[in-house]
Amino acid sequence: MVNEIRIVSIIGAGFLGKQIAAQTASYDYTVRIYDKQTEILEKLTKKIARRKKLKKAYGDTTFHNNLSEAVADADLIIEAVPEKLGLKKEIFSQIDKYAPPHAIIATNSSSIPVSRIEDAVQRKDKVLNMHFYHQAIPMVDLMKGTITSEETFEIGKKWIESIEFTPIIVKKESFGFVFNRLWHRLRLEALKMWADGVADIETMDTAWKIFTHMDIGPFELMDTIGLDTVYNVHMSYYNETGDSKEKPPQALKDMIDKGLLGMKTKKGFYEY
Ligand code: NAD
Repeated sequence: MVNEIRIVSIIGAGFLGKQIAAQTASYDYTVRIYDKQTEILEKLTKKIARRKKLKKAYGDTTFHNNLSEAVADADLIIEAVPEKLGLKKEIFSQIDKYAPPHAIIATNSSSIPVSRIEDAVQRKDKVLNMHFYHQAIPMVDLMKGTITSEETFEIGKKWIESIEFTPIIVKKESFGFVFNRLWHRLRLEALKMWADGVADIETMDTAWKIFTHMDIGPFELMDTIGLDTVYNVHMSYYNETGDSKEKPPQALKDMIDKGLLGMKTKKGFYEY
């Protein structure tokens, strides 16, 4: 295994893939970007060509509509295709076939532990979860598969630090990693207190802001994320555990059915 990461391939140039590519390219790594949709790559290359700063950051980045070409000389490959287990397994197996033997393969999945994908590859010691948030949140959850080596994990951790993001180490496989799991509990409790009529949203947001010195409270944050996304995340915890206590309140579903999704529809818990 090489200790030094120089070439990073991003698989899937969607919402997250693009941001991971931009962050990586700004730290002088050579980036290769692959997406199966040619239009997405064309749009991205046009955007980069228009902006001087982006042009400089992306430097020697190459764009590919062929996976084998995109990973052929990579040291690290980050998969950021849609959240479907079958698709991720298929992509991992192709990467395993075409990437150099030393290369590390990471998944940016929000909810699928790499232990459920690792069967698709031979190099089971060189896979891990590398969960990026959007670029404004400079941290990345790092989680091992069942036989990910210490060396792989250490290289991944150092690489995250090299792009000036903070690695958040998950010591034991955990649905929701570290921060999302904390935030999940708080958010579910806040939603239940609202639905049960224990306190108003303004009261809970105010209490939270006074206590934490943060600028926004949980309900304001949920409006920013989008109430449909919040609901889907809670439903995935519920489906994962089968525990009725994990089910988000019906009142949240009623808001979604009425099209009250938060900032993106100008109305959610608050009006915008
Ligand atoms: P997205 O839909 O914006 O992008 C996915 C990209 O993958 C698209 O450009 C699509 O063309 C491409 N793609 C689809 N099938 C492909 C294939 N077979 N080969 C190559 N490219 C293919 O999705 P996203 O929001 O960027 O999410 C990607 C991953 O990142 C998911 O696993 C998601 O859970 C995770 N994630 C998302 C967020 C978020 O806020 N959106 C945050 C953290 C992690």
